[in-house]
Amino acid sequence: MIEPPDLCDDCFTLPPGVDWVPVPEVFELLQKALVIRVKTDTVTLAKANGRFLAKPIVAKRASPPFANSAIDGYGFAGHQSADAGPVYLRLLEGRAAAGHPFDGLVPEGSAVRILTGALLPNGVDTVVLQEDVNKDEQNLAFHGPLKIGKNTRLAGEDIKAGQVLFEKGHRLSPPDLAVLASIGISEVNVFASLRVGVLSTGDELLEPNRDIQKGEIYDANRQMLLSQMESIGCLTVDFGIAEDNVPALRSLLNEASANCDVLLTTGGASAGDEDHISALLRSEGALNIWRIAVKPGRPMAMGLWKGLPVFGLPGNPVAAFVCTLVFAQPALRLLAGGDWRRAEGYLVPAAFFKSKKPGRYEYLRARLVDGRAEVFASEGSGRITGLSWAEGLVEFDEKARNIEPNDPVRFIPYSSF
Ligand code: AMP
Ligand code: MG
Repeated sequence: MIEPPDLCDDCFTLPPGVDWVPVPEVFELLQKALVIRVKTDTVTLAKANGRFLAKPIVAKRASPPFANSAIDGYGFAGHQSADAGPVYLRLLEGRAAAGHPFDGLVPEGSAVRILTGALLPNGVDTVVLQEDVNKDEQNLAFHGPLKIGKNTRLAGEDIKAGQVLFEKGHRLSPPDLAVLASIGISEVNVFASLRVGVLSTGDELLEPNRDIQKGEIYDANRQMLLSQMESIGCLTVDFGIAEDNVPALRSLLNEASANCDVLLTTGGASAGDEDHISALLRSEGALNIWRIAVKPGRPMAMGLWKGLPVFGLPGNPVAAFVCTLVFAQPALRLLAGGDWRRAEGYLVPAAFFKSKKPGRYEYLRARLVDGRAEVFASEGSGRITGLSWAEGLVEFDEKARNIEPNDPVRFIPYSSF
C-alpha cells in the first residue's frame, strides 16, 4: 500500500535542496550572459525612432546656432535699460524676423522691431516685450529695469559643439530626433532591428479561426507576443503552433536559430511529461536559468539553442505576458544593442488589501484610478481578461508584506517595461 504525502498546496514548493532562483539573480545573469545579436545600419531620422544607437552622438555644431529673440518685441543694447526708470529710444526703420535678419547696426539710443526667432542684429543684446512699450512712428518708451540679455536666447545655450548628446545603446525617441534635427544630423548609425521568433507549444492549442473540439483551447499567446514585440520595435517571425513532440520542436528550434536573433516560446517549459522545451534545452542546448522565484511565472526556461537565445515562457497567458515584460524585454534590449535597463515604475497608494508571502517576487495586474493602484479582482493566472483590464503591474519584492489601502506600492505601466 502507498501512503499519501502531506499537502503542500503551493506550486512554489520544491523538493528539499532545490531552490528557486531569486529575481535579482536572474537580472544579474541576464546582464552578464547576453551580448548584442544584431548588425549595425545607417538610417535616416525617418527610420530612427525606437532604434538603439550603435555609436555615441557628438554635436558637430551648436544650437541655437546664433543668438536670437525669444519673443516679439523691440531689440536694443541692454545697458540703456539696466536701471529703474523710463527709457526712450528711437525706432529704426525695418525689422528683424525669423529667417530675415536685419542687416544694419542698431546704434546707441535706437531700437528695432524684432520677432521671435530672429537673429539679434548688431548692437542688440536685449529685447523688450511688445506689450510693455508705448510707441509712435519713430519713438519707443518703456520702463526699466530690464536685465541685459532679457528675452533673448544665447547661441549654444541648448547644445554646445563637441557635447556628447547620446551614448551608444541609447534608444532614440521622438524628442531625441528633434535634438538631432536641431543640429542638422539627418542620419544615424543604429543597430538593426532584432528579429524575434514566437512559437506556441501544446497539443491542446488551436488557431482562433478553427472549430474547437473537446479538450482543445485557442492559442491566446502568439498574437499577444507578436504584437507586443512589434510594439517595442522588434521584427517578428511567426513560428505558429507546435505539438508537444520532440522531433517537431527540435526542427523548429533549428529553423529559428537560422532565421531569428532570439526565440520566445510558450508552454512546455516546466518539468512535466510534456514539457519538451525545457527538456530539449537541457539535453541538447544549454539551459541557463530555470525556476524563477516569481509569481505568476512558475518554471520558465532561458537557454541557448545553437547560439540562439531561447526564452521558454510559461504557457499560461498571464504568466507568459508577465515574464515577457519582466525578464524577456530587458534581455531583448541587450540583444538589440540597447543599454541595460529595468522598468522603474513609481510608488502610488494601494487601493487594495493583500497579504504577501515571503521568498518570491509577485506581480499583480493593476491600473491607476484617481492616482491609486487597483488590482484585478482575481489573482488566478488563468484569467486573461485581467491582463487586458490592467494597464500595468504592481511589483512586490521577496519580502513578506501586509498591504492595506493607501500603503505605497510600486506600479509599473506596461509601456515602461
Ligand atoms: P504549460 O506551460 O504548457 O504547462 O501550459 C500551462 C497552461 O497554459 C495550460 O493550461 C495550457 O493549456 C495553457 N496554455 C499553454 N499555451 C497556451 C496558449 N498559447 N494559449 C492559451 N493557453 C495556453
Ligand atoms: Mg503544455
